[in-house]
This record gives sequence, structure tokens and C-alpha cells, in this order.
Amino acid sequence: MALTEERKQEIARGYQSVCARIDACAKRSPFRQNVTLVAASKTRSAEEINYAHSLGLSSIGENRVQELLAKYDDLDRDLDVQFIGALQTNKVKYIIDKVSLIHSVDREDLALEIEKQAAKRGLIAKILCEVNLGEAQKSGIEPEKLDDLLCFLSKLPHVRVLGLMAVLPVCGSFEQQFEICSKFMKIFVDKKAKNIDNISMQISSLGMSGDFPAAIAAGANTVRIGSAIFGARDGKQNQ
Ligand SMILES: *Cc1c(COP(=O)(O)O)cnc(C)c1O
Repeated sequence: MALTEERKQEIARGYQSVCARIDACAKRSPFRQNVTLVAASKTRSAEEINYAHSLGLSSIGENRVQELLAKYDDLDRDLDVQFIGALQTNKVKYIIDKVSLIHSVDREDLALEIEKQAAKRGLIAKILCEVNLGEAQKSGIEPEKLDDLLCFLSKLPHVRVLGLMAVLPVCGSFEQQFEICSKFMKIFVDKKAKNIDNISMQISSLGMSGDFPAAIAAGANTVRIGSAIFGARDGKQNQ
């Protein structure tokens, strides 16, 4: 279904304002990092996504395998598609050759399945480890267990760890957000300094519509932003 002019304008305003805010935050950041935008595109149609692509958006992150497969063929070919949601082991095979990066690896059995499916197709799967930053988060590995997981991952020949990802617990003020983001970035810098074989800590994926300024201020170089670009999601699909 073609988008209305009104919807196009809404997406254009959202996208341009997010780009401008990211730029401003990055300029203010003491880390002077380049920040990559991955648009969180769950619940958005291929038309909405392709329209954002026509405005300059290059990467999207999908959350659900089913939904990704349903829209995949309608997405522009040169769009970079990543996976940012919780991933069930038995669904890895459907997305392994469609996504350039899996953000949400938090356990050995999932990593082993990614290794197996990548090997089968002769690919090297790029992944991030998802870190759990607090009580309310269901997914992600506890920071204390991250070393063991990284050590395990470093031995998988068809898996390449490129960094860490986290979803912040919902918290109010910029200061609170900044504190948790800084905790994540400290973990990132620590792991990077370890120079583990086969693991190159380049990507710190942190920050969503409600907290990306704090994530960038703390040094994160990749943000995943949905509603600030595309508008609020339907309540029951909001996940
Ligand atoms: C939905 C989602 C986002 C983006 O959330 P918004 O609040 O819409 O910006 C980022 N990361 C993950 C893992 C998500 O599921």
C-alpha cells in the first residue's frame, strides 16, 4: 500500500530530527565518536522503511524473525538489515543469510547454532553480545558471566564478535541513564582492552528513542531508534 503524503512527511520529520539530534549529541560527546543509526523497524511496513531509506537511512534492525521474513522481499535490496530482538535458537537458520549483524547473542546454545548455520553456508556471522544491565531486563548475559561467553565465542570459526549491545532499563532522568550507560561503556572498554583472540570490540550498541542522548554522551557508537523516527507504535505490538 502506498504511503500517504502526510505519512511521508511524518517519517521525514522524524528521521531528519533524529539525525540532527544524533549529530548534536556526537559533537558534544567528549569521545568524539562517529555514531551509527540503526532504525528499529518492528511493526513498520516495508513501504515505511523503504521511504526512510530513500531519505538516507542505511540500516534497520528487526526484532522478530516472522516479521522480518514477511517483509524481507519487499525491502530495498541495498538496505542493510540487522537483527536486534530476542532470537530463538531454532529460528537462526531463517535469518543467518539475511542479516549483517545479530545484536542479541547472550548464550552458548544460540552461539553454537549461529556457528552451525554460518558454517553450513560458508559465511562468517557477525554478532554482538547482549549484556543485561538491570533487574527489569529479561535478556542479556550478566556482566559477571560475559568473560566466559566471550571466551567460548572466540573459539567459533564462523562467528565474529564485533562488540556489545544492551537495552537500558526504563529510568527517568538523563543523569540516571548516563550512569547506567557509563557502566555499560566501562564493560565495553574493559573487554576491548583484553584483546581476546578473534574478538574485536568495535561496536557499542546502546540507546533508543528515550535514552540515546545519554548513550552517546557516555561514548556509545551505535543507537537503535524506532519511535522517534516512525512515530509511536501500537500499544499491544510495542515490544
Ligand atoms: C524497539 C527497540 C528499540 C527502539 O525502541 P524505540 O523506543 O522505539 O526507539 C531499540 N532496541 C531494541 C532491542 C528494540 O526492541
